[in-house]
Amino acid sequence: MNMMKLDPARCSETGCFGEYHVRQCSKKAVIQENGRGWCKAHSPSHIKAVDEARKARWKRDEDVQNAHSAIRKAKHAVVTAAEAYVAMAGIGNPNDAQLREAVRLLGVAEAKAKELGIALT
Ligand SMILES: [Zn+2]
Repeated sequence: MNMMKLDPARCSETGCFGEYHVRQCSKKAVIQENGRGWCKAHSPSHIKAVDEARKARWKRDEDVQNAHSAIRKAKHAVVTAAEAYVAMAGIGNPNDAQLREAVRLLGVAEAKAKELGIALT
């Protein structure tokens, strides 16, 4: 596709402007990389650095979203456990299995509360 003759004093970047118009970057070649001259904005190392910074930003955003999601799930687990315990406690004469389940649910609620830094007393 790049059949045009490049000016070696200018940046090697070429861009497409419409289907048949390929133009060389108008800036001076001030950086030599990969055997060609580049302006500061189009040097392969700059392009790579910008790309890596963008990916790092995306990763940070994803990590924050995952952390928020984990907190939402933990909060939901606390509420679910507490609701189940209340329902269980409403039973007039719970059997042993019901009591064991209530204790287990309280343990889940306590662990989740501790995970979230919620004081229970
Ligand atoms: Zn350029």
